[in-house]
Amino acid sequence: MPNKPNFYAGGMLDRVSALRKDQSWIDARRAAAETRIVPVWRAQNFIFGDLEAPRAGLLTAADLPDGAEYFLLGLNGETAYFAVDLSDLEDPATHPSFAGRGSFADLRSFGSLLGHDEGNILAYARGLTWWHSRHRFCGVCGHLTVSAEAGHVRRCTNPDCATSHFPRTDPAVIMLVHDGDRCLLGRQPRFPPGMYSTLAGFVEPGESLEGAVAREVFEESNIRVGEVTYHSSQPWPFPSSLMLGFHAVATTTDIRTEQDELEDAQWFTRSQILGWEEGGPYRLPRADSISRRLIEDWLHG
Ligand SMILES: [Zn+2]
Repeated sequence: MPNKPNFYAGGMLDRVSALRKDQSWIDARRAAAETRIVPVWRAQNFIFGDLEAPRAGLLTAADLPDGAEYFLLGLNGETAYFAVDLSDLEDPATHPSFAGRGSFADLRSFGSLLGHDEGNILAYARGLTWWHSRHRFCGVCGHLTVSAEAGHVRRCTNPDCATSHFPRTDPAVIMLVHDGDRCLLGRQPRFPPGMYSTLAGFVEPGESLEGAVAREVFEESNIRVGEVTYHSSQPWPFPSSLMLGFHAVATTTDIRTEQDELEDAQWFTRSQILGWEEGGPYRLPRADSISRRLIEDWLHG
C-alpha cells in the first residue's frame, strides 16, 4: 500500500458528516465571514491566476449572486468550505461577482498544477455539483428532488415517494499488468499522440473488483491475468468515477486489440519506459493520474 494519497484524494477537509443534518449550524457557517465558497459553473472550476499558474478561486458568501444553492464540503479548522453551482448564469465572465477576478476552466486542463489540498477541494466540488445537476428528478417516480443535509442527499418532493437519493460514484478498475520484467500499456484513439497508459474499465453489476480486472484486461488485450493486488484508489471527477488501482500479473503474452477500445497495446520493459524522453514518440499518462502512479511504482518498485 502506498503511504501517500493519490492526487485529488485526501486533503485537509474534515467532512463533518454528523453536522450535515444540523440546519442551524449550516446556516451559521454559510453566513460566517471566514467561510470559503468553491464556485463551479457548468462543470468548470473557478481559478485565480492563469492556466499555467492556477490557484483555487475561493470566494466568500458576500461575493456570490443571490439564490445560489450551497453544498457543504467540510471544515478546515473552523473554516467551512461550500461548493456552489452557478450554472444558471449565462456568462459568469461578465457577472460582477467574477468579472476581472479569475476565470472558470476545466479541472482536467490545469489540475496537476495545483497543490494537493486545492486539487482535492476543486475535484470534490466538481464531483458533488455534477451529481446534483444530474439528479434533479426522482429516478423512482419522476417528481422533482431537492437538496437536503447540506447537499449530501436529494429528496423526492412527492410525499407518496419521498425517496432519498445519495451522491454516487462509479467504481472503475485501473490496472498495471506486468509479467515481472515487462508491463502492458495501451492507447485509445482519443489519447494525446504517443501516450500509452494502463488498461481500465467500469465494474459491472454482480462483479467483484478482481473479476472486473481480469475481464477488462482480457477484453481489451486478450491477456489473461492471475494474481491481482490492490494498490490504491483515486477520486476521478471526470465526471464521477472512483478509480480502484491494481497491479496484476499476466499469465499469457499474446496481445490482441481488435475487440474495440484500444488502437494499440504493447509490452514495454522498464528500461524502455525509463528511456522515454520529452518530445519523443512515446509518453506516460498525465502526472495527476493514478495510471501514472501505478506505472511509476512498478518502474521503481
Ligand atoms: Zn420519487
